[in-house]
Amino acid sequence: MKDNQQSLYIFGPCALESLEQISPVAALLKRHGLKYLRTQLFKPRTNPDSFQGLGDAGVKILEELRKSYSRDELKFVCEACSTDQLATIAPWASVIQIGARNMQNFELLKAVGKHISDDHDYVLLKRGFANTVDEWLEAARYLIQGGVPKDKVVLCERGTRSLTSPTGVQLDFIAAMEAKKSGFMVITDPSHGSKSSEFVIPLAKAGLQLGLDGLMIECHPRPSESVSDAKQAISIEAVEEFIKNHIV
Ligand code: PEP
Ligand code: MN
Repeated sequence: MKDNQQSLYIFGPCALESLEQISPVAALLKRHGLKYLRTQLFKPRTNPDSFQGLGDAGVKILEELRKSYSRDELKFVCEACSTDQLATIAPWASVIQIGARNMQNFELLKAVGKHISDDHDYVLLKRGFANTVDEWLEAARYLIQGGVPKDKVVLCERGTRSLTSPTGVQLDFIAAMEAKKSGFMVITDPSHGSKSSEFVIPLAKAGLQLGLDGLMIECHPRPSESVSDAKQAISIEAVEEFIKNHIV
C-alpha cells in the first residue's frame, strides 16, 4: 500500500439497493485488500418523495454479505440520521457516519458514544455545507464528550454550496487542510463535493496530493441506474483503475 496505517478509503454506492448491486463493489474491495464499503440504509433526501433508503429492510442484505465476508474482511460504513437509526446500524457498522445535514444535530452527536465499542473503527463526521471549520471541530468535541475516543473521529470534507461552481458545490480543500491542523484525520468526499462523475477522480487525486488522509467515493455497477446521486456515481472499472494507480 502507498498509504500509511492512518488512511481511510471508503467506496460504495450512494444507497444500498440490493445484494446484486452491492456484491460487485464488495468483490472489488476484497480484490485489492481494501475494506470499507458504503452500505447506507438510511438516506437523508431533500425531496420527501425520493428514495429514502431501504431502512431496516436493508439489514437483510448486510446479513447476506456477512455470509461471504467476515467483519475483518469487509467493514460497513452506515449513516445514522437519528438516535433510532444509530441503534439499528451500530451492530453492523464499523464506521458510523454523521452526515452533513446532521453535523450540528447535537443530541445525535451526544448519543453516538453510547453505541461505540471496539467493533467500531471510526465515526465519520461530515462538514455541513455551510458550516465553518470551527463549528466542525466543535461538533467533533460533542462526539468526544459523548464518549467517542478522539482517535476514532474522522472528519470528512464534502464540499460547500457555491454560487459560482457550475455544479453548485465546491470541495473546500483549504477547510480540509485547516481542519487537519487539529490533529483529526481528515478525508474528502469528491462525489458529493463535485456532484459530477467527471470531476470525482481528479478531485480525489488532488486530495491525496495535498496529504489528506483518505477518501469516500460513490460508485455503482451501473452508475446511470443509481437510485440516488446517479450523476456523481462512477463505475466499478473507474474505481479499480484509481485504486491500482493511486492506493495499492
Ligand atoms: C452521504 O455520504 O451519503 C451523504 C448523504 O452525504 P452528505 O451528508 O455529505 O450530503
Ligand atoms: Mn450520495
